[in-house]
Amino acid sequence: MSSHSTNPRRAVTNAILSRQPVESEHSAKQRSEGTSASMHDWWSENWAVNVFTHAEMKKRVPKSVYKEFQTCVRESRQLPPIVADVIANAMKDWAVERGATHFTHWFQPIHIATARKDDSFISFTGNEGKTILEFSGGELIRGEPDASSFPNGGIRSTYEARGYTTWDPNSPAFLVKNTNGLTLLIPTCFCSWTGEALDVKTPLLRSSESLSREAVRLLKIIGDHKVRSVHTTLGAEQEFFVIDRGFFLARPDLLFSGRSVIGAKPPKGQEMEDHYFATMPPRVMAYIQEVEQELWLMGIPTKTRHNEVAPGQHEMAPIFEDSNLAADHNMIMMEVLRDVATRHNLTCLLHEKPFAYVNGSGKHNNWSMATDYGVNLLEPSKSPRDNMPFHVFLAAVIRAVDAHADILRASIATPGNDFRLGANEAPPAIMSIYLGSEIDELVRELIAYDDKSEPSAAGGRGADGRPSLSKMVSELNIGGTVAPFKRDRTDRNRTSPFAFTGNKFEFRAVGSSQNVGATVTILNTIVADAIRSIATEIEKTAAEGIELPKAIRRVVRDNLRKHERIIFNGNGYSQEWVVEAEKRGLPNLRETVAALSQFESEKSIRLFESLRVFSASEIKSRKNVYFEHYCNTINIEAQCALNLINAHVIPSGVNYQTQLATSIKSVKELNPAAKLEEQTRRLGDVTLHVEGALLASKNLSEKLAERHKHHESPEQHAIFFRDVIKPCITEARVHSDKLEHLVPDEVWTLPKYSDMLFLK
Ligand code: ADP
Ligand code: MG
Repeated sequence: MSSHSTNPRRAVTNAILSRQPVESEHSAKQRSEGTSASMHDWWSENWAVNVFTHAEMKKRVPKSVYKEFQTCVRESRQLPPIVADVIANAMKDWAVERGATHFTHWFQPIHIATARKDDSFISFTGNEGKTILEFSGGELIRGEPDASSFPNGGIRSTYEARGYTTWDPNSPAFLVKNTNGLTLLIPTCFCSWTGEALDVKTPLLRSSESLSREAVRLLKIIGDHKVRSVHTTLGAEQEFFVIDRGFFLARPDLLFSGRSVIGAKPPKGQEMEDHYFATMPPRVMAYIQEVEQELWLMGIPTKTRHNEVAPGQHEMAPIFEDSNLAADHNMIMMEVLRDVATRHNLTCLLHEKPFAYVNGSGKHNNWSMATDYGVNLLEPSKSPRDNMPFHVFLAAVIRAVDAHADILRASIATPGNDFRLGANEAPPAIMSIYLGSEIDELVRELIAYDDKSEPSAAGGRGADGRPSLSKMVSELNIGGTVAPFKRDRTDRNRTSPFAFTGNKFEFRAVGSSQNVGATVTILNTIVADAIRSIATEIEKTAAEGIELPKAIRRVVRDNLRKHERIIFNGNGYSQEWVVEAEKRGLPNLRETVAALSQFESEKSIRLFESLRVFSASEIKSRKNVYFEHYCNTINIEAQCALNLINAHVIPSGVNYQTQLATSIKSVKELNPAAKLEEQTRRLGDVTLHVEGALLASKNLSEKLAERHKHHESPEQHAIFFRDVIKPCITEARVHSDKLEHLVPDEVWTLPKYSDMLFLK
């Protein structure tokens, strides 16, 4: 029998006894400098100091160079070589002054978090072997990593390895600090020698450009002559789990697949609802505070932090920014969350479903559109009924989500998210829109619009004489000595995948580990498509001789009528909604394989090609990468399950089985009359599940051996993993979880849910 000291699970529990919150470098510095340094000073000295901001650039280069840079960025033009050289030199000087030794093109391959290959600034000069620190415009603008080992879904064969990274000047370069030095990270796009996108950022930038083009066109048609560009804004709320690092290292499944493939239900889960918004455990608080400090140095505006629903689950959210920048910032945030955790002897799990029986993690994409002069196009304003641009853009989003619900669903299809969507803890896999009562009422009015009975809403009164919607923004008086306060326009609906939340939409079905750039790309594209169609319809209607305001109202009405089926303000978790949605003809793509298949439909290719976001071959390659990722993920989970069952579960089970059998045998020998029914039954249960686990493990390895036979297409391969391998993993888990409840605590070598979720 294993002793306490060799049981890894016990070792971690003992270590936790002496773990304390860890002070960050910044906090230690502040403390050593005394309390005189106010937060205000810290802030003004440290906010974004590790970012080569445009303001920093402006200080360091001649005026003409800065002006040329701005013009090139605005017009998406390549920088002239001389200008690039001057900027590169200024960037290098700034980085070196701050202690950097290396620079790197930082990019986001499809389905790998982020990638980089560092170069030092060192160059030889002349032939005397002298070194100087150098960084040219060429090096800033273009890099050439060997691209053959990144997922490309068949776009190129490995012998055509050339890939390029090119600078994205919209997202500023920044310094990343490690224990022994700083590196300058330059955000870049990544494409193949043939110009096809191999990353997440390239299509995101293309989709932003398309949306801007179409939105500017529409705004001009409806009478806005000052608009020059429209950008999308994004605020990504990030959920994650934090556990002690010792437990993480003792669980190969978490280590390799990010989720626990086995684990019995703990005595307590989230049913007490005592974790949500509760005070954080001190070690986690210290960790998150350090994460915030690191992010602020990099100019990432994190704003909120709180406990989430599941034990061990937390959330952080930044202030929204331009989507491209916000997407980069979310990638950095995920890395900082992971890295800083180690210093605190903690591990941050970003997987969508690290633990069964409790909620999984999402990443709410708060998304809107704004003009270059700063107006949020989804802001209903004080009198929504008179806000015609709002009607038009609201109609466009509603049309987009209905017309392309399948593609939107595909954008969040990942093996991890399959454990969340539709599991009564996250929005369902059926895409629908929640508007809230006020905007819903507005939509009903817009739908009821009748050409003949003009004028209607203008003047702040409804067609039927009801008070204007604006008056409904009401005061709430809760009594006592508390002053009345204004309530929001909309209540919340946690069950909706796509909810209007006051002046933006919140896409809530996104998975916690996803690159948000990929989901925003799809959102931008489908909305750009709807805007384009609506613009054309308004033009056409006006060309028929109908005056513009009428034409706009008519097009808005017709679009809302056609697409109102996507609006659902009820309970998305209910079975009635599944039935109702089917009646309405809304797609219900329950899991990843079905959802991903939508990606390459004729409609989808037409959409992406016409808006110049993806070519047909890029779509195909992406779909293949996603399927490959799906298969690899489930394969790794299966290998983890095998490993755990064989190396931990069965030995623990057999151990206890022997204990019981030996005990029963010796008691019987000593006392043949002893009643041993219950003990014999217990032995029977243990034997049953040890056998069950052995059989499941045998079955799983036999099935895994067949995986290479199912390679007809990436999709067929994925179907094999979904239909054959996944059920085997579940079967193995059933026996393992039963055994975990039966065997003595000290022979169970794997950290349990009750340890990992609660001990900190
Ligand atoms: P919640 O109560 O759901 O946390 P918040 O108002 O705090 O809602 O906003 C959540 C996120 O939405 C934040 O990241 C916030 O910056 C972001 N957000 C607010 N306005 C916009 C907008 N116009 N566009 C995009 N994101 C926004
Ligand atoms: Mg929210």
